[in-house]
Amino acid sequence: MNALRKFEHRPRTVRIRQMHLSLNALENRAIAAGLAGIPSHVLAGDRLSTEQCLAMYQTDDVPLLGVLANEMRNRRHGDTTFYNVNTHVNYTNWCNQFCDFCAFQRRPGDDGAYCMSPEQVEQELRNANPEATEVHMVAGVWPALGYEYFLDILRAAKRGRPNIHIKAFTMVEIDLIVKLAKKPLPDVMAELREAGLDSMPGGGAEVFSERVRAELYPKKMSSKRWIELAHQVHGEGFRTNATMLYGMIETLEERVDHLNKLREIQDVTAGFQTYIPLAFHPKNTKLEHLPFASPMERLRAIAIGRLFLDNFAHIKAYWVMLGLPVAQMALNFGANDIDGTVSQEKVYHDAGAATPQALSRAGLHQLIREAGRDPVERNTLYQALPTPESELAV
Ligand code: SF4
Repeated sequence: MNALRKFEHRPRTVRIRQMHLSLNALENRAIAAGLAGIPSHVLAGDRLSTEQCLAMYQTDDVPLLGVLANEMRNRRHGDTTFYNVNTHVNYTNWCNQFCDFCAFQRRPGDDGAYCMSPEQVEQELRNANPEATEVHMVAGVWPALGYEYFLDILRAAKRGRPNIHIKAFTMVEIDLIVKLAKKPLPDVMAELREAGLDSMPGGGAEVFSERVRAELYPKKMSSKRWIELAHQVHGEGFRTNATMLYGMIETLEERVDHLNKLREIQDVTAGFQTYIPLAFHPKNTKLEHLPFASPMERLRAIAIGRLFLDNFAHIKAYWVMLGLPVAQMALNFGANDIDGTVSQEKVYHDAGAATPQALSRAGLHQLIREAGRDPVERNTLYQALPTPESELAV
């Protein structure tokens, strides 16, 4: 009976801005694209299987994925497209993990190696955009810094800008900090919170494949540990994001497995705010021979994120990695967030990202409006903020 009612209420047409496409037409196209049944599943709000996710990675019809992902984005968010005014502090590039895909890491004494003191972090925040509501702080892994260093840089950031939201430390850094503290994780998280930590960016997962890890980043913590930490930090009340670094040597099945694991965690904790697919930038890394994902592959990753991760409210088109044109297009392929104004981003620019170092609020507004969407400034926790008068003019 319930199934029948669900079927009766199933939408027969999909509004894609000014266009109307019939479900029959979508299904016929899906059959030809190896995606039979997926439009009906998606539009009925049914969860997609891992087999269907794999089919979405295999199909040539990325525009069809875009149509479906766009519809789901419109249902959830309408034209609202979030951005924030943020700044980045990559406090050190010292790292002992030697990930093959990383262009950012250095050893002390190497050309370009640096480690910021707490005083430098404080000064960086004082110098940052006065309108920034968030600082994004991530860095390399260097145990000799000691536990107190991490508390000190959080306190320093808050001294530099008392009201700013500190989104800091990937799961890899959290793992290091907990080990250095030699205390139970709840105690460490409470001390980090006390020192100023507000949320976490959620990186460091790369792709949850032990085969890929053994080959490219064997020193990095296991996917099992990442997942365990995600459960624990969400349990302590911290919100995080989730990422997938794709375009290295992983198989499509491994990408599907990664997304499925994220969806399973979210079913239990609901602690992820945003999913951010990260296209691997090969330049200046040991994997320089690999190609950078094509624009269509980058759009596919966004669309699949929206369609498969049905329990994630937000899908982010991180313009620093995607490039501005693709990030703009991604707003009609399922993304409802384009990240922020950013400044001083080092991790991806060291790997050859050709995007600007920063965008103004007006620049982001223009980018979003050109995509036919409505820009809405948010804070880190996705609460809408009032738009300054000067940015309202179209
Ligand atoms: S990705 Fe992170 S952990 Fe790996 S080498 Fe680079 S900075 Fe270190």
